[in-house]
Amino acid sequence: MSLITRSYRLRVYPNGAQRRLLDRWFGATRWLWNTALEIRSEAYRMSRPRLSEIISVLLIVAAVLLSAAACGAAPAPIAIVIHGGAGVIEPAKMSPAREASYRAGLAAALDAGYDVLERGGTSLDAVTAAVRLMEDDPQFNAGRGAVLNHDGDAELDAAIMDGAGPRAGAVAAVLHVKNPIELARLVMDKSPHVLLVAGGAEDFALEQGMALVPRDYFRTAAREHELEEARGVEAARAAGTPTTRAAAASGENRMGTVGAVALDRAGNLAAATSTGGLTNKHRGRVGDTPLIGAGTYANNESCAVSGTGQGEYYIRQVVAYDVCALVLYRHLTLLQAVHEVVQVKLRRTGGEGGVIALDRAGNIAMDFNSVGMFRGARDSHGRRQIAMYRDDAHH
Ligand code: ASP
Repeated sequence: MSLITRSYRLRVYPNGAQRRLLDRWFGATRWLWNTALEIRSEAYRMSRPRLSEIISVLLIVAAVLLSAAACGAAPAPIAIVIHGGAGVIEPAKMSPAREASYRAGLAAALDAGYDVLERGGTSLDAVTAAVRLMEDDPQFNAGRGAVLNHDGDAELDAAIMDGAGPRAGAVAAVLHVKNPIELARLVMDKSPHVLLVAGGAEDFALEQGMALVPRDYFRTAAREHELEEARGVEAARAAGTPTTRAAAASGENRMGTVGAVALDRAGNLAAATSTGGLTNKHRGRVGDTPLIGAGTYANNESCAVSGTGQGEYYIRQVVAYDVCALVLYRHLTLLQAVHEVVQVKLRRTGGEGGVIALDRAGNIAMDFNSVGMFRGARDSHGRRQIAMYRDDAHH
């Protein structure tokens, strides 16, 4: 029985209330077991072997029933957390219709990922499903509707990581891949490599039977307009012409990567991130998203993280891995580790943005030092939350 108890404790990661309930179950089980053993030896002592056999069978039945009941008392938690980018996201800048549309897009991605987990699917499939949906949604900066580089192209980066293993796959600077997260997954599953870039990554996509799409597929009028604005600010700066604060801000605050982290019933963590990067970026610029440890990281030993913000800061500070390292080596809680990295370390260097993170106990962190962050979380304790602003309780 103690073996059952121990392996069960290792397999699931109950929260405080569940742990107390489990302890009571196991206490009762131990008491029943010991009492039955005593009766059995007493039966032997009194030379009643038949009675002893009956008690042995009853013991086995009781053990099976009790451990099944204990397992039912605290099923392994499942959870998914998503983000749709960080930046200047505030009520004053958002019409009710736009806000409703963002919330609907986030909710669809969150629920698509959660459905996978609820049906017993893997965390890898859950994060892939959530990110794919946001890649297809033109209001987010990933896949269709991604921001445009200086040359007017959507140049896409994506990464996925499996906390079991751990294993990882990523692609950078691809121009014709409809869902870069699916290609990142293929790199992980079907190649010995971790990161493929540009033409090489697209050749690999073709080899894997993936259809490529024309560059126009990604371009939207809204992103073309943003690029024009950013180019204008850049030209004015180069010429030494003063720009209005609003114009400068509109050119600089085009953040909006998408990402997801998930925990499945088997206790495995996964992380996925996908982006068009930054508006008006130089052709060939690669951000933190596809760099394992910078914008994306997952390891069952610590946590799963997906970041969004100005990638150069995330790369220099190895943000996603840093969160997990603080959990693993300094034994900080997930919330403490995320706070330390986002509110202390990133802020110190001027890095703006946020991260979402999840650990094997199902703890969730969504923290940012920017004005707002599109985000959502859902878990098997009944939490289902979509948020955008810093104080989103009333929205
Ligand atoms: N982190 C992304 C990048 O720098 C951009 C973003 O999150 O908005 O490529």
